Amino acid sequence: MTLQVNCGKVNPESGCTVIVQAETEEELMQKVAVHAKDHGITEVTPELMAQVKGAIEEV
Ligand SMILES: [Zn+2]
Repeated sequence: MTLQVNCGKVNPESGCTVIVQAETEEELMQKVAVHAKDHGITEVTPELMAQVKGAIEEV
């Protein structure tokens, strides 16, 4: 099972088309945190984390 988050679905205003994939939710959140820095987000807040988790898809 692979988990993925489409960045553009978390923040449609960003127009970002990056899709982050990982095998576990923990790994996924780490990769999302790394990608968030590309958007100038250095801290993944609980609100952002909830948004990201709501956008996780299984592929
Ligand atoms: Zn992005």
